[in-house]
Amino acid sequence: MTGQAAEEYITALLPQCGVNKRRELVRLVYEIAKRDKITPQEVLPAQKNLSFESAKKQLLARRYPVTFKTTSKDRFYLPKLELNPDLEADLAPRAFYPKTIYIESSVRDSELAARVRAAFPAADFKETDGKTQVGSPNFSRRLDTLLIHREKYDFLKPCPCSCSAACCGYNLINLGFGCRFECEYCFLQQYQNLHAVLLPANLEEFLSKIDETPFRKGLFDRPRIGSGEFTDSLVFDDLTRYSRQLVPFFRKRPHLQFEFKTKSVNIGGLLEAGGCENVVVSWSVNSAKITDTAEHFTPALSARLAAACEAAKAGYRLGFHFDPVIIYDGWQADYARTVQEMADTLPKEKVAWISVGTLRFSRELKKMIENRFPQNTILDGEFLLDFDGKMRYSDLQRKEVYQFLLPLLRKIFPHAQVYLCMEDPKLVQSF
Ligand code: SF4
Repeated sequence: MTGQAAEEYITALLPQCGVNKRRELVRLVYEIAKRDKITPQEVLPAQKNLSFESAKKQLLARRYPVTFKTTSKDRFYLPKLELNPDLEADLAPRAFYPKTIYIESSVRDSELAARVRAAFPAADFKETDGKTQVGSPNFSRRLDTLLIHREKYDFLKPCPCSCSAACCGYNLINLGFGCRFECEYCFLQQYQNLHAVLLPANLEEFLSKIDETPFRKGLFDRPRIGSGEFTDSLVFDDLTRYSRQLVPFFRKRPHLQFEFKTKSVNIGGLLEAGGCENVVVSWSVNSAKITDTAEHFTPALSARLAAACEAAKAGYRLGFHFDPVIIYDGWQADYARTVQEMADTLPKEKVAWISVGTLRFSRELKKMIENRFPQNTILDGEFLLDFDGKMRYSDLQRKEVYQFLLPLLRKIFPHAQVYLCMEDPKLVQSF
C-alpha cells in the first residue's frame, strides 16, 4: 500500500475537497488499507452523493473500531502523510564495523581509544577537537560513524519520564548515545540529532560525581541509577567494558543500586566483574511476535532469559521491562506465554523489579516509524493524543493490559516490585 495510491484515489473520489480535508481522508485510507491489507477502493467504495463529513465518519469508525464512539474527535491525530523511501531502515544483517571513527584529542590515549583502534583496524580514524560535526544526515547510516569523546556536561540527571506522568524516581547516567539494534518503536530514531554512535572515554569523571549527588529513591528501598536511556546498556560492552568499572564501583556503595538495561546477551564483562547484590541486570521482554517482527537484530526471548540465568548465577539480581506492550489480536495469549517462559526459566527470588508500559510515542516519532518501517504493524492499534501530548492507547485499553499482566506477574514473582512506567498518575493509583 502506497501513500500515492491513497492520495490518487481520494482526489478522484472527492475532487471538491480542499487540501486539509483531503489530507485527513488520505491518512485514514492509507492506515486502514495498510492494516487490513486491502486497496483504497475496498476501504471506501464509491458512493452516491458522498460528502467529506460522511467519508470521514465512515473512515474514523473503521480505523478506530474500539474507541470511535467514546472518544472526542480531537484526540484522533490525522497529520499529512509524508513518506520518504530514502529514510527506510536497512534491515540487511551486518556486523557493527564503523567506517569512520573520530577520537577526541583529549582522550586519544584512553584505554577505550586503544581498544577501538584494535577492534576496527580497517576504519578511517580521524582526530577531532570535539567541535567538528560528525555523523550522517540519515539516522539509518548512524552506525557508519563512531565518536570516542570526553563527556563534559551530561553526567547524571533525574529521569525526565514524561511530562505529567507518574514518576518512579529513576536516575540516569549517560554512558553513550546510539544503538545497533533496530527496534521499530525506538525513540532514538526521532530524538537523536547526531547520527553516529557516541561512547565516552571518561567513565572516571562520571563516577566521581556519584558520591556528591543526592539521588531520588522513588518507589524503591534505595536510589536506582541506570545507563540505558540513550543506548542499550550492554550492547557495546565488549568494546567499552564499562561493566568492568561500574560493578566494582557500586559494590562499594551498597546504599545505591545500579541497573544495566538491555536486550543483548553481551554479559561477558559482567561475568568477569563478578556478581553484586546491588547491581541489577534488566532485560526488556516482549511477546515473541513483537520480538520477531519489530525488534530487529535483537536476541530471542529464550537467549535473553538464558543470559539472565547466567547473570543471576554470578550473583546479580534481575529486572525485566515489559515495555512496550503492544495490543494486537491474540496479545493476551502471547504475553502470557512470555510470562510462562520466564516463570519456567528464572530463579524467581532473584527478580528485583518488573515494569510494564504500553506503547507510547510522540507525534514526530509516529512519522519516523512510518518512514523507516513502512511494513510495521505496531502502529496499527488505536492510538489517541493523550494527557502529555504523546500518543497512547485509550485508558480502557491500557487498563485492560495492566489488569491482565500485573496480577499475573505479581503472582509468579511475589518478591519483585511490579510497577507501571510513564503512566497517567490517576491510572497508576488504581494498580
Ligand atoms: S535496544 Fe533500546 S536503544 Fe536499542 S534500538 Fe531497541 S529500543 Fe532503541
